[in-house]
Amino acid sequence: MKKLVALTFLMAVATISPAQEKSMDAFIDKLMSKMTVKEKIGQLNLLPSGVIQTGISDNSPVMELIASGQLGGVLNVRGVKEVRELQEAVVKKSRLGIPLIFGLDVIHGYETIFPIPLALSCSWDLSAIERVARIAAVEATADGICWTYSPMVDIALDARWGRIAEGSGEDPYLGSRIAEVIVRGYQGRGERFATDELMACVKHFALYGAAEAGRDYNTVDMSHTRMYNQYFPPYKAAVEAGAGSVMTSFNIVDFVPATANRWLVDDVLRKEWKFGGFVVTDYGSIGEMVSHGMGDLQTSSDLALLAGTDMDMCSEAFTKTLEQSLNEGRITMGDIDRACRRMLEAKYKLGLFDDPYRYCDASRRAKDIYTAEHRNVARNLAAETFVLLKNDNGLLPLKKQGRIALIGPLADNVVTVGSWAPTATYKHPTLRQAMESALKGKAEVLYAQGCNFFGDSILQSNAHFGRPTPWIDAEVLKREAMAVADKADVIVLAMGEEQEQSGECSSRSDLETPQVQRDLMAALLTLGKPVVLLNYAGRPTVLTWESEHIPAIMNVWFGGTEGADAICDVLFGDKVPSGRLTVSMPRNTGQEPLYYNYLPTGRPTGEDAKKFRKFSSNYLDVVNDPLYPFGFGLSYTTFEYGDISLSSQQMTTDGSLTATIRVTNTGTREADEVVQLYIHDIAASITRPVKELKGFERIRLKPGESREVSFAITPDLLKFYRPSASSMNTMDHVLEPGDFEVMIGPDSRLKQLKKAVFTVR
Ligand code: BGC
Repeated sequence: MKKLVALTFLMAVATISPAQEKSMDAFIDKLMSKMTVKEKIGQLNLLPSGVIQTGISDNSPVMELIASGQLGGVLNVRGVKEVRELQEAVVKKSRLGIPLIFGLDVIHGYETIFPIPLALSCSWDLSAIERVARIAAVEATADGICWTYSPMVDIALDARWGRIAEGSGEDPYLGSRIAEVIVRGYQGRGERFATDELMACVKHFALYGAAEAGRDYNTVDMSHTRMYNQYFPPYKAAVEAGAGSVMTSFNIVDFVPATANRWLVDDVLRKEWKFGGFVVTDYGSIGEMVSHGMGDLQTSSDLALLAGTDMDMCSEAFTKTLEQSLNEGRITMGDIDRACRRMLEAKYKLGLFDDPYRYCDASRRAKDIYTAEHRNVARNLAAETFVLLKNDNGLLPLKKQGRIALIGPLADNVVTVGSWAPTATYKHPTLRQAMESALKGKAEVLYAQGCNFFGDSILQSNAHFGRPTPWIDAEVLKREAMAVADKADVIVLAMGEEQEQSGECSSRSDLETPQVQRDLMAALLTLGKPVVLLNYAGRPTVLTWESEHIPAIMNVWFGGTEGADAICDVLFGDKVPSGRLTVSMPRNTGQEPLYYNYLPTGRPTGEDAKKFRKFSSNYLDVVNDPLYPFGFGLSYTTFEYGDISLSSQQMTTDGSLTATIRVTNTGTREADEVVQLYIHDIAASITRPVKELKGFERIRLKPGESREVSFAITPDLLKFYRPSASSMNTMDHVLEPGDFEVMIGPDSRLKQLKKAVFTVR
């Protein structure tokens, strides 16, 4: 770049030292002294370019804005050539040549696509998830990208919300651990942002997952106590892991859109959590504040900037209104400078002032993207994410012999990678192709589509988001399927949700499998053959009918580019399923929102109540517990848990103790088990959840092998937030002495957990 070469040390955000901060400040002071107001506001402007569409408006004329210094960053462009072209334009044509930052939704992989984040969380495998983020960073940076809109760490308790697919489920502890490793995977653990590391953007801050009734973009309303205890921890963990940026959410928080919520962005994020990076809006959020009823675009821009939001994604609100607001005295130069400085700091930390083309190495694509090594990691990990829900009489694994009827709208369909994969190239095999190659020379695969996704073509086209909607006569499809199944020894169904039925703007009011698919399952069951259901889903769906009729069910989510091969690995027993649910699966949609770590009511039914009880907190028509609980998943082997032994029955408020349990593989296959630790604070000054996950360990055991697993119980695990005596809105983080129940086992159900009690004095 011209004039602006900076001798930066390229430190990752979290680790910049005081000396390096000093030289960064000096560099930015000098640069800012040369910038006009318009150029400063230009740094706050982020617009799309390219063909990827992730929001309502698109394709603004970025070239003109670049030349006049009116653009700080670009999203949705990819490819070294394309990125270099835009970067060259800014370096050569704009007055100061300040490089652009290039962002993209690299959510679960780049061209090597990994399972959707919800599925990844079901692996409970932190080192593998860190590796996913690392590989995504290597691939995306090889294609010109330096900033990703990930991790998405929104806690989601309501399966009607389609974006539950993008996060790590319902638990704040697990969600926090995953958030940390993803940030580390993208940004690296070292001191520098290397050219194969991405800047993370934690989203959507905050509470986006709590949209009322699970309808996307809907209102959120919750107490600060709940925010702090249940929803904030993963954002905080990601920030503390050093995430370079944070994206505000579309929703309101305390009746003010997050983007303009000063308490949220300034008090909580920056002051309390010491976040030092920049804050970007979500797609068009400032413009949407007008619909929220916050006033016109100028007022909305002022409010957003004054709240501490730095970058405007796709509203062009800052560039259109901030200068006028400055002239009218509604905002100050200091407000603009603060935001501009944060944007320049991010670019400095990414090393873009040293070399604006750092991420434009054309030789990398061939060696770094969609490599055999990356795909192999994805295949192995995908197999860890499948959750075996039911396996009567050990039907699974299937033998590689005879004739297998593979039936369903997802069986020979390449569109099964997951909803947030705009960079997918769809070169991967379908399940049918994967199965044919897995069984070559051993067994025969007979295929039929069997049905459409829905009985209704309008629903089908709503869920297809821009793709052509193939529609075939239902009777013809069914006849074919029956004929194929009739010749087979076993029937494997690839059914459930279609890829776009979860993700953004894919809320559902009915989580059952569409009737047309159910009817086909019922017809096939009349043949009396063994049936296996591979349930594709981006959320917990309702499988009550299926669980009553189908002997083997495995949730395969959306498994990314290697998902089909991974399914075959597990289906035919080369690998043992080890995924455990990170969301509760409901018995019917009306149970939503449904989650294991609920607060007790004054009229509890008990966890296992099987009958309706008048004047208790329950439903007339369904029991309270889920069909499949948080933490649950079967294996091809069995595990036994011994009793818990505590290193002490007592602990001080600054002490710790250890809980140990012996786990034995009592079956015949070597396999992984996820040992889960839950804690219940029996009595406190505010009501506390019936249990909360506070630790877990994934262990591998050979048949007959035993292992002792120990968990350190420290004050941090027992603390919670409660309103301070002085104000309901200020929180104290406290450990209150008293009795705590510690529970360890294979899933969250009380009857599955071993228990012990200790006292904090
Ligand atoms: C989504 C974000 C995404 C952004 C940019 C928005 O519609 O809510 O999650 O990062 O678009 O693509």
